[in-house]
Amino acid sequence: MSRMSRTSQKRGKVRRPGRHGRPPGSSNIPRPVVQVKATPCPRCRSTRHERVGGSPPLVRELPGVNAVTRQAYRFVVWSNRRCKDCGQQFRLREETNHDPRKDPETPW
Ligand SMILES: [Zn+2]
Repeated sequence: MSRMSRTSQKRGKVRRPGRHGRPPGSSNIPRPVVQVKATPCPRCRSTRHERVGGSPPLVRELPGVNAVTRQAYRFVVWSNRRCKDCGQQFRLREETNHDPRKDPETPW
C-alpha cells in the first residue's frame, strides 16, 4: 500500500493577487538591442503607445551622448504619448541626429 496522496497537486488556474496582470504571450517578444527606439510606458512598461493628437512634439537642439547606447545625438524630441495598454499618458523623450522638422522621413 502506498500513500501517495501528497503528490496530488492542483493544476490549472493559479491566482496570484498583487502580481501585475501581464497578458500571456507578451513577455517573450525579442527586443531590438541595437536601437533603443521603443521607450516603454513608465507605468506598465508596454511599448505600444501612440502620439496624442493636438500637441505637436517639441524639438530642441540639445547635443549630448546617450548614456545607454553611447550614441551621440544633436536633437531631443519630446512628444506626448498615450499608452495603448493602460492608457497612461506620458512625455516621451527621444534623441536623434536629424532635425525632425527638416527631415520628412521622421514619423513625428
Ligand atoms: Zn502603459
